[in-house]
Amino acid sequence: MKNVNGILDSDSRSHSPQRSQSCQPTYSSNSIKIRSVQVGPSSFTKVRMLGKGDIGKVYMVKQKDTGKLFAMKVLSKEVLIKRNKIKRVFAEQEILSTSNHPFIVALHHSFQSQDNLYFVMEYCTGGEFFRALQLRPGKCLIEKEAKFYAAEVTAALEYLHLHGFIYRDLKPENIMLHQSGHIMLTDFDLSKGSSPPGQPGIIKSQQPHMPPSLDTRRCVYNLRTNSFVGTEEYIAPEVIKGSGHTSSVDWWTLGILIYEMLYATTPFKGPNRNETFTRILDDDIIFSDQSPPLSDSCQHLILMLLQKEECKRLGSQAGASEIKTHPFFNSINFALLRHLEPPILPLINSPDGVDALNFRKMAAESISLDLDMDHPMVNVTLPPPSPHDKIQSYIYNPFENFNSITIHREGDFDY
Ligand code: AMP
Repeated sequence: MKNVNGILDSDSRSHSPQRSQSCQPTYSSNSIKIRSVQVGPSSFTKVRMLGKGDIGKVYMVKQKDTGKLFAMKVLSKEVLIKRNKIKRVFAEQEILSTSNHPFIVALHHSFQSQDNLYFVMEYCTGGEFFRALQLRPGKCLIEKEAKFYAAEVTAALEYLHLHGFIYRDLKPENIMLHQSGHIMLTDFDLSKGSSPPGQPGIIKSQQPHMPPSLDTRRCVYNLRTNSFVGTEEYIAPEVIKGSGHTSSVDWWTLGILIYEMLYATTPFKGPNRNETFTRILDDDIIFSDQSPPLSDSCQHLILMLLQKEECKRLGSQAGASEIKTHPFFNSINFALLRHLEPPILPLINSPDGVDALNFRKMAAESISLDLDMDHPMVNVTLPPPSPHDKIQSYIYNPFENFNSITIHREGDFDY
């Protein structure tokens, strides 16, 4: 079935590993409709565990009445409370439920039971980009291939910044592959939102035939945060220094990602955390010989993204448009990115996508979830605790405002 833009809807995609027109993802959604939740844990059967994140487990599940596969992230309330991660889960829900972008994983439902919170997301059949990289010769990509993924990541970060979010945890492990091979960012629990987001500015193009671009830096201008988050080798100098950081951290991590895609290692990796941090703060980037050698524009982009001084870093003045207009991306038409053929076509063993290759094997742990026994929560609305009322603060439910919603995106199947 085709949607309004003539692009094939997800259910009618070909499941053959051969690249075909019908493998196009549904990229056309322009609007999202949020309704009260239409499903609960028992609407799904667990197929297997897909992965484990910092604060949750992700399972492949099948919706009972449609047979459709989804990725279900399950977060234990107890663990969230014990580990003080409640704010993060709300940030993740906000980003997932408001995002509507081809390179950001789509949320279909979220709900809660007595013990758990659930996100039911689009299942990325192509698996982890990280695993796909491991299967490449030398575990890395050539420049043209890396450029493709860097461009898609830039587009996704631009979208997040435009909506007032900093991603803060870019790394190959958080990039999933759609069945078509296009990227999808997941895992927003480290992301930070600015409320309300600022308005983007308009930057007039220097060239007469080019359209103006958006200054996305202004959408997150009021967002300076001090928390020490990120993944060791990807952490920006200002985060290590604890001097407060802004959306520029995402451009730093983009620089590390491009380097890792090309060299199969990150530029400042040391034998231990302290040494890695020292190198991030002090060391210059070394471009060892490549065959074929890296282009000057590629090296220049990496150097500009990995500027240790935040204010000198590419993207720190006007956001994504600075990166998109860098000569490295001259050959990329960002508006047509999603129609380009991705360099890696994910291998999928079974016609329904159940048996995809780019996932870790997790069989032993996949027995811990019983969706039929996990009854949906009946919402009891309690007022927030008053500091003087010890009993009331004891029974206060910190997840009361976790939205139980079903999201319909234009072009989705109505079921
Ligand atoms: P996260 O907690 O978001 O970091 O996810 C942990 C792991 O679950 C990831 O590394 C993936 O292997 C898997 N995963 C997360 N989201 C999805 C998804 N939408 N589709 C398929 N696998 C996913």
